[in-house]
Amino acid sequence: MYRNTWLEINLDRFKENCKYLMTHTNKRLIAVIKADGYGCGDALFARCALDVGASMVAVSSIDEAMCLVNANVDSEILILGYVDPSCIEKIKDKKIILTVVSLAWAKKLVEYDCKGLKVHLKVDTGMNRIGIKDKCELKEAYQLLTSAGVIVDGIFTHYACSDNLDDALTVEQFERFKEAYEYLGVSLNYVHANNSDASLRFKDELTNACRCGLAMLGYASYDSPLKPILSLYTTIVNTKIVHKGETISYGATYTCENDELIATLPIGYADGFIRRNQNRKVYVDGVYAPLVGRICMDQCMIKIPYDMNVGVKVEIFGEHISLEKMAKELDTITYEIICNLNERLTRKYIKDNKLYLEINKRLGN
Ligand SMILES: *Cc1c(COP(=O)(O)O)cnc(C)c1O
Repeated sequence: MYRNTWLEINLDRFKENCKYLMTHTNKRLIAVIKADGYGCGDALFARCALDVGASMVAVSSIDEAMCLVNANVDSEILILGYVDPSCIEKIKDKKIILTVVSLAWAKKLVEYDCKGLKVHLKVDTGMNRIGIKDKCELKEAYQLLTSAGVIVDGIFTHYACSDNLDDALTVEQFERFKEAYEYLGVSLNYVHANNSDASLRFKDELTNACRCGLAMLGYASYDSPLKPILSLYTTIVNTKIVHKGETISYGATYTCENDELIATLPIGYADGFIRRNQNRKVYVDGVYAPLVGRICMDQCMIKIPYDMNVGVKVEIFGEHISLEKMAKELDTITYEIICNLNERLTRKYIKDNKLYLEINKRLGN
């Protein structure tokens, strides 16, 4: 790493969070590591989760599953999204499990040689994204698949409002899921519905696994003992006095009211640090400093109360500025902020309390 801007990822805390989720729910953990582990490293997260007892991992697409296979992650991999049935040749003899997204999909699948392939049935209970809504269709899909030699190893649904204190829709969805499963009249290995927030908030006797992503990273909508694992840092690369009446950055949107000390930071919107961060604050040397003027592609400026040296560390989010607070201020969700952190940012992984690994994809490591 040459540019001193990096995302720190604490794998010790990640493991603690996984353990907490398994004990708190008393269910198996399906570690959701889609979108490269929410932008933070899917293969490393997979290994950590499996290390502490996760039962399998889940991703969103066949590409992501292949990526884990290529990284020698030795676990079953559930693909939560749509996979074209014509792709099944590609995943033969791999521990990849597909999601049955509709009856039409099941009909198409059985036209291929799918004997021995594992699938989970997806029940659409109100999200209206993918899954089978009608319980008769669900049964038809099950029968069609099993007679073609497909192993139906699980059934699941997904809640639309588990982050919401109003439980009405979640309760309704749960009831529909229960009814569909009971109507199917078989006992399946994996029965799962709860994502991170639902795992913290709901208890049920029907499901035997939870499907958690964000909570492993220590973030959730509800109070919990989970520990945040991410910190985004950069460093001061330049400081100067800008005189009263002068402006800062593109568009000259900020005018100094006095002679002001301005520091430049090597992070910008190409890193995922979007322009809307203007006027928010960063944490540096014990103080909160406002971002002044427009955020540029690779750089931005802050106003500091006293001169600081080049090289002083600046926290964008972490211990002093929570990711949740940042998300609120940007009118978005934590998921979106971290998924948008560009691979240009070096990832520094902490394990056993030490720097374990430094990855910069641009430098090819
Ligand atoms: C992303 C995803 C999850 C994990 O969600 P978190 O809120 O991060 O726990 C679970 N299930 C499905 C179907 C998903 O798409």
